[in-house]
Amino acid sequence: MKKPIHIIFLGPPGCGKGTQAQKLINEFGFVQLSTGDMLRAAINSGSKIGKHAKSAIDKGNLVSDDIVIGIVRDRIFNAECAGGYMLDGFPRTLAQADKLDQILSEHHQKIDVVIRLCVPDDLVLRRIAGRRFHLASGRSYNIEFNPPLIEGKDDITGEQLVQREDDKEEIVQSRLNTYHELTEPLVRYYQKQGILRAIDGTGSPENIYTEIKQTLNDVPA
Ligand code: AMP
Repeated sequence: MKKPIHIIFLGPPGCGKGTQAQKLINEFGFVQLSTGDMLRAAINSGSKIGKHAKSAIDKGNLVSDDIVIGIVRDRIFNAECAGGYMLDGFPRTLAQADKLDQILSEHHQKIDVVIRLCVPDDLVLRRIAGRRFHLASGRSYNIEFNPPLIEGKDDITGEQLVQREDDKEEIVQSRLNTYHELTEPLVRYYQKQGILRAIDGTGSPENIYTEIKQTLNDVPA
């Protein structure tokens, strides 16, 4: 892939954004900016932002636009992102999308492509129920669809895998409702800009990845 590319991954929780982002990191060295990971890091560090974020995340609600935009703005123009980046979990509201366009245009940048991973709710619920994480690296697994080599252990470090609190069933339903109400309108927003590409996210991770790479290759230079 030729020039720095700026990608948004759009899709419900559990659509495979994180898994696909990981593959792109491994193959192309892209930088992944996951607002969920940044907020969890803020919570673990005990910062003020983390305290605000925790109560919203625990209930399956969104963290306020101002906080999230602030943490993205702090990272997106850093040298680490000069080779391109993937936004994972951001934007999640029309207000965030508008603000993102504004701050990017101030830096003569723009989003090149929005990859929408389409997955129906019933599959999302099954996938999330089986999701397990290696906390230190963010590597994710699924006990049904993408199991670790040794049950309950990270493939690289052998450390224990955990289930996220907000992956418990009642919270996931609320996260899905929030997605449909507040995030799905972004599909239309990016369709109008002509940069939305929809990909069927129900197949195997390998096939989805092949399609994503094809889509990225077709992005005009
Ligand atoms: P994720 O890891 O992307 O599923 O995000 C976990 C949680 O972090 C979400 O359920 C939200 O509470 C919060 N969060 C992550 N990204 C955003 C965002 N762009 N706007 C608001 N809240 C967010």
